[in-house]
Amino acid sequence: MSEEIPIQVPENINAPVEILSEAQKIKKGICPSCDGSLVFQEGCKVCYSCGWGGCE
Ligand SMILES: [Zn+2]
Repeated sequence: MSEEIPIQVPENINAPVEILSEAQKIKKGICPSCDGSLVFQEGCKVCYSCGWGGCE
């Protein structure tokens, strides 16, 4: 038996919590480029505001 102690080390310790990573923004439907609203279209998330597009 082994005891596992989960230790989470943030990559950017000095980064404010409010700032979301690009992946987190995309997950929330927020454009990582201009903070606009993303529209889910044919398997891709696109931003009509700045033209950003992300496909998984
Ligand atoms: Zn955008």
